[in-house]
Amino acid sequence: MPTTDAALESHLTETKDARLESYKAFLRIPSISALPRHADDCRAAAHWLVEALTAAGLEHAEAVETGGHPIVYADWLHAPDAPTVLIYGHYDVQPVDPLDLWTSPPFEPVVVGDRILARGAADDKGQVHAHVMAAGAVLAARGSLPINVKYVFEGEEESSSVHLDQWLEAEGDRLSADVAFISDTGFFEGNRPAITLSLRGLMYAQIDVVGTAVDLHSGSYGGAVQNPANALAQIIAALKGPDGRIRIPGFYDDVVPLSEADRAALAGLPFDEAAYLSHLGLPALVGEVGYTTLERRAARPTLDVNGLWGGFEGEGSKTIIPAHAHAKVSCRLVAAQEPEKIFEAFRAYVEEVAPPGVTTTVQYLGGGLPSLTPMDHPATQAAARALEATFGQAPVYIREGGSIPVCASFASILGLPVVLMGFTPPDENAHAPNEWNDLRNYETSIRAIARVLDELVDLPR
Ligand SMILES: [Zn+2]
Repeated sequence: MPTTDAALESHLTETKDARLESYKAFLRIPSISALPRHADDCRAAAHWLVEALTAAGLEHAEAVETGGHPIVYADWLHAPDAPTVLIYGHYDVQPVDPLDLWTSPPFEPVVVGDRILARGAADDKGQVHAHVMAAGAVLAARGSLPINVKYVFEGEEESSSVHLDQWLEAEGDRLSADVAFISDTGFFEGNRPAITLSLRGLMYAQIDVVGTAVDLHSGSYGGAVQNPANALAQIIAALKGPDGRIRIPGFYDDVVPLSEADRAALAGLPFDEAAYLSHLGLPALVGEVGYTTLERRAARPTLDVNGLWGGFEGEGSKTIIPAHAHAKVSCRLVAAQEPEKIFEAFRAYVEEVAPPGVTTTVQYLGGGLPSLTPMDHPATQAAARALEATFGQAPVYIREGGSIPVCASFASILGLPVVLMGFTPPDENAHAPNEWNDLRNYETSIRAIARVLDELVDLPR
């Protein structure tokens, strides 16, 4: 039976110094996944974690070889009637250059006031470490965890997660759970606790418009033949209306509409639109009619030309009709749009609007699924209660305009709802020189994680 929170708190207080030393030891391993010369360091970080998980009282801890950097797995499965949570983080870090902008060496952690400074202090070793420490503290204080827990700590997040999906597919049974928690996001402006409800997916395509085998003289042929560059411009112009709506038939069919509560949560975020505009140095913001800037940039799908080329691009003038013209076009997708389906609709529409006299083809360059776990999902609410109880502030609900591919993988491969609960300060310099974490966030996050395990006991299964 759980003893009181006082037992947990006194254990955490007694072990605070040792915990900081352990955190620093983990940060000293230069586990840069993108650089082959650090492969041994990545493996060392994986094995360091296996030992830390085992020391915490977790079981079946192993560094699983995948063909790349190992995936670390561990579990604790002694709560037969309780739910199971899968917890994800990554132990690999970004490269450190430009090194001369660091105020201290990136793999020699230093504590300055409430800050700990080192590569990975926030993204994501600090969060991984907090999870291991939280489970260890609960096991030490109570002898058991309130629910079943499975840990997946990846070593290739910063280098495209090349081997993760394959492993998730192969290990579906071992990884079965009721919900996944990902701690790889952070707090909102002003260091306010935040839960990220959704991420956008992606559909990436290329349009190729081809005319003649070589460029033509625009004096001899102009007016009599189709110009591929003009044709491409015509196609692109047809993709989006002046109202910011994407004109591809069926494009919005699968979009989960924003509820009144969703819109209210976004409207309640402190967001200074004038400051945003002046930071960008633009004359105005534009977007889909009927939606606010915060909705447009994270909760609605987009279509953007990412690159455009063809014809003469040198200095001065050259009077030709280009032989061909091309564009890279991508769409940020929202739940429950599917990249392949959106691509098919995109291709059909481009073919429909392509002018005659040239050959237009469309190719799919890749995509990723969006994800969404609603605000009223019981696991989201469990996380919200844990954050409020420990940080003393109800979380804000935010939406991320970009993607975290692993999130979509947990949803699509393992069929799990995903809660994005991260604890790092918003200005933590992730991926930049002088990355840091706030030690108060770190310490409180350990209490929040312990609390969320308790809050998930009643999760409907
Ligand atoms: Zn990360």
